Order: sequence, then C-alpha cells, then structure tokens
Amino acid sequence: PSRSDIHYFGAGPAPLPTAVLERASQALLNYNDKGIGLCEISHRSPEANQILTDAKVSLTNLLDIPDDYEILFLQAGGSGEFSAVVYHMVSVWVEKRRKRAEQETKSEGGSEQDLEAKVLERLRKEVKEELRLDYLVSGSWSLKASQEAARLIGPEHINVAFDARKANEGKFGRIPPESEWKLTPRKPGAALTYFCDNETVDGVEFPSFPQCLEADSEEDAPLVIADMSSNFISRKVDVKKYAAIFGGAQKNVGNAGVTIVIVRKSLLPPTSPLAASPLLRSLNLPVGPIVLDWPTIAKNNSLYNTLPIFDVWIAGQVMSGLMETYGDKRISGQQEVSDQKAKLLYGALDKDSQVYHVVPDKSVRSRMNICFRVHGGDSEKEKEFLAGAEKRGLTGLKGHRSVGGMRASNYNAVSLEGVEKLVRYLEDYAQGS
Ligand code: PLP
Repeated sequence: PSRSDIHYFGAGPAPLPTAVLERASQALLNYNDKGIGLCEISHRSPEANQILTDAKVSLTNLLDIPDDYEILFLQAGGSGEFSAVVYHMVSVWVEKRRKRAEQETKSEGGSEQDLEAKVLERLRKEVKEELRLDYLVSGSWSLKASQEAARLIGPEHINVAFDARKANEGKFGRIPPESEWKLTPRKPGAALTYFCDNETVDGVEFPSFPQCLEADSEEDAPLVIADMSSNFISRKVDVKKYAAIFGGAQKNVGNAGVTIVIVRKSLLPPTSPLAASPLLRSLNLPVGPIVLDWPTIAKNNSLYNTLPIFDVWIAGQVMSGLMETYGDKRISGQQEVSDQKAKLLYGALDKDSQVYHVVPDKSVRSRMNICFRVHGGDSEKEKEFLAGAEKRGLTGLKGHRSVGGMRASNYNAVSLEGVEKLVRYLEDYAQGS
C-alpha cells in the first residue's frame, strides 16, 4: 500500500504530516541549497542556530509560554526526564535549604568551620525528615517515573499521593477524587509534585489542572512537574502553573530523538553543577549526568553536546505548520479538532456498548489514546477485529502489550478522514457481530 492508503493509529512513534516529511526528504539531501543535508551539518552552524530559534519561537507562540520560562531540547526521551526531574528538583530543594540553614546558623555566631559543620548536620536531618517527592500515580508512565525516583533517591523520600489502581481492582483507569490524595503538606512542601497529564498505555488523561495544586501564593506554590509526552501541543496549557513540563517529541511533535522541556527560569540556579555536587554527595543524594543537567543545557542554549538538529527541525516544522493552520486560534484550534475526533470515536464505541467497552472511567478518558476492549476482551474476537481493520488500511490499533485490548491513538497528525474511516469500521464491525 502507499502512504495515502493507510491510517495509522499507533501510540508512538506516530504519524507526521506528509508535507513535513516531503520537505524533510529534501532537507536530508540538500538543505536550503547548501549542497549538504541537515544531518550532515554542525549543530553549531548558523543554520542549526536558526532552526533552534525558530522552533522555540513556534512553541512559545503556540502555547503562549511566558518570558520567565526557558525551552530546552535534550536527548534521552521521556524516560531520561524521569531521572532529570529528580536530580534537578532535589538539587533546587537542597540549595534552598542550604541558603536558609546558612543564614540562620550565621546569626547564631561561631567560626567559619563551625558554621559549615552545623549547616551540614542540619541539612542531613532535613533531608532525612523532610525531603519528599510527591507522585500522582494515574497510570503506567507515572508509575515508572515514581519507581525511577525511588531508585535514585530511595523509596523513603517518595510520597505516592495516590495509586489509582487501589480501589479499582488493581487496574489503572480512574483518578481518585482530590479529597483522597495524600499530598505532602504545603509547609514545608514537596521538592516536586509529579503527574503524567496523559497516560498513553492506560488511556487516562487529567481533564484539567488539579484544583488542589493551584497556588495560594507565590511562596507556597507546589512545584508541579508534568509529563506531557503524549498530549503535548494538543490543548491549551497554563504554563505558569508548572515548574516544568516535558515531553518526548515522537507522538504529537516530531520524531523520536528529541525531548522538549519547558522550565521556569527561577528554577535554573546559576550554581554550577561542579560547585553543587560535593554537597549533594555529602548528603548521600545523587549527582546526575551532565547531559541531563537542565541548568547546563539552558546555559548552552541546548547545545552543550551534539543536538540532533534534524529532529528539532522536524518539530519546528510541525509546530509552525500548526501556527499556519490555526492562525490566531493557535493551540485552541488544534484542541477543537482533537476534541472533535475523540468525541467521534468515543461516540461510536458508546453507541455499540454491547460489543465495545471503553477501559477508563468516563471522567478521565484520554482524547489522545482511546483504549477499549472488543467483546469483553475475547482474544479471538479481538484478533478478528484487528484483521478486519487492517483490511481497510486502519493499522496500529493493538493495545500496549502490558494491558492488551485495543488502542486508537488520536494524535494531531491523525486526520479527521482517518478517524471517520475508523468510526465507519467500528459501526460495521458491530453490525456484523
Ligand atoms: N511518558 C509517556 C506519557 C509516554 O507515553 C512515554 C513513551 O511512550 C514515555 C514517557 C517514555 O518516553 P521515551 O520512550 O521517549 O523514553
């Protein structure tokens, strides 16, 4: 089959706009008439710098990112950021505590050496008693992120505010009411409060920013970190509410190879990682690899080491394409289309509920990854469903291996036409059942 015969609903890597890929094939051979391709030029060339600037501008415009936020491009994927957020936010926490301890200890008087020893002693106590990282475990990816955090700094520092599998027969598929979340109290506060905005495997998406994480005042605002790998640039986001947002590009933004971080500048301290690491080591806290160190990446305009500039170019092309398509509506234009496509799919599944069962609870259904079972998960019927879909050029519908079932991923590049074809198939299959 040719590209135009297929509608691919895989969860990532996922389809890209055909026009971008056509331009990409040219850019690989001969970028901007330079006689050399984009994968063959230096990441420090003027062309590469322009690509980086353009991608940042497009993302800033699309999401209305305030000036006091920095955009970083890194490698290591969403999983790399599971680790990076821990290294980074723990060091921010330590630095804040160190400053406070130093100030308060200084006012007590004593020699310089005494001061250092007292600060260290106090910090050791605070780390033990107060260093907490809050994780909202709403699906497989936030679970993985919380496990990585526990591996890096020890489970005693991880506070699982909720595990959505509890009270749901051991399975993901709901988000408990906020009144049941066990967050670390705002004073002293958690070093980070982490959630995954859209759980790709389980089809669970936060309907909106959690009310209980809203800031009462600037001082006690929770330091919210969100993984938006699978719903990045698909809806409006109030960036100001987050300490940082991250996402791998390979679902809505581009191809695998580049990860985007949007981080509040005030959380990128000027302290060099070399200066901070001895203290972290004496507190038995981990010192992360330099390529994951956000302040270092920021200071070097994402060019600390070789950045896959072709991947950044693709992401930039996709984002500027959205700006062209939706004009002044910006991301709200994409949101309307994403919502409309998701509504069509859920509508068809709900209509034939004797054949289809949507896995997650209605209140948290993802607009991006639509997870459902066919005939109660009967394996022969599900195989038959997939084979029938494939015959119509509807591919990539098999659910994640860990949960089984079906998953129709509805990322930005999945066309309305493709969704309508899938809806027709859902109806026809149900009628023939
Ligand atoms: N977070 C989410 C929500 C994901 O869907 C994925 C991958 O599918 C990841 C993180 C991990 O991303 P990566 O494979 O780029 O490490």
